[in-house]
Amino acid sequence: LCFTSNKMKRYTFSTLLLSLSLTCFNPINQTVYGQNTSKNSSKSLQINEKTLSDILEKNKAFYKEGKVADYIPELGKMQADKIAFSVVNENGKVINIGDVNQKFTIQSISKIIALMIAVTEKGEKNVFSKMGYFGTDKPLNLETTGKPLNPMMNAGAILTTSMIDGEGEIPFKKILEMVRYITKNNSIDYSKSVYNSEKETGHKNRGMFYLMKNNGLIEGDEEKLNNYFKQCSIEATAEDLAKIGYFFAHQCTRFDGDTTYRNPEISQLIQSQMLTAGMYEFSGEYSRTIGLPSKSGVGGGITVSVPNKIGIGVFSPALDKHGNSAAGYHMILDLVKQYNLSLFQ
Ligand code: GLN
Repeated sequence: LCFTSNKMKRYTFSTLLLSLSLTCFNPINQTVYGQNTSKNSSKSLQINEKTLSDILEKNKAFYKEGKVADYIPELGKMQADKIAFSVVNENGKVINIGDVNQKFTIQSISKIIALMIAVTEKGEKNVFSKMGYFGTDKPLNLETTGKPLNPMMNAGAILTTSMIDGEGEIPFKKILEMVRYITKNNSIDYSKSVYNSEKETGHKNRGMFYLMKNNGLIEGDEEKLNNYFKQCSIEATAEDLAKIGYFFAHQCTRFDGDTTYRNPEISQLIQSQMLTAGMYEFSGEYSRTIGLPSKSGVGGGITVSVPNKIGIGVFSPALDKHGNSAAGYHMILDLVKQYNLSLFQ
């Protein structure tokens, strides 16, 4: 976390330039990049409903290229063509388009909230003595028997939640209360049916839980794992995700300006984890094409932080082969291109 020397900056910047130019001049490269295609530069972004609705209309058909997750049977019931796009702008104003009232389970997006709480309680050093800062080339639920790679993959996330203080359901309740606080939405709760479905079918997660228990990383019984299943089953809307994105983009300041949890260290850690591993094994390519800290969930949501600027929340349940929302990714990509939002301009 200490890449601050000028020499290092220059080195990183020139390496980036070199790789950018090499990639741009590669005629067979098919990837669409998120940089420098618009005259809109910084200042106030002035994102409005028309912008979001144009982007949504252009990309909504992408759900046909994905598939709604059904490995947790209850998730498979979601209508595939539901779609929503939300932004919390620089002033904390919410702009919503599409199926704005559609709730869905936040799934892996809950991992960033659990990490925030575990690090606040136990300190970053303690939490990361049990897991790494590594990226991954592994799909979301396969890991080795050693220490988890990072807190964004399932093993590390299950471990993170197990480190939050409190008996029984208390760690989950803390996560739920934090989501309610960040979104200022006390009606947020978890879906009992998705929770039960995850609990009944989450054998890989249960397997990883016991491997980590065997390795001495986790203490306690399956109640700890149930808290993870519950946090994944928290239901929210795209607007709620945009507010979570805004919160981490603004040093843990809420969209309405409330600074109760303001903490630049925590937001830097969370955003760095989102950038490194928030989109699973697609994180590197995502970073190249979109270049923003983001976290996806298999419920079809993605939350994005544009540091010191805006929060973005998207929802479309059909997932690509990496487990990320297909249409959601394309909506974010278009917004990033139009407003030059990539960190790596
Ligand atoms: N509850 C899901 C699981 O553990 C969360 C994974 C995800 O959203 N990628 O399988």
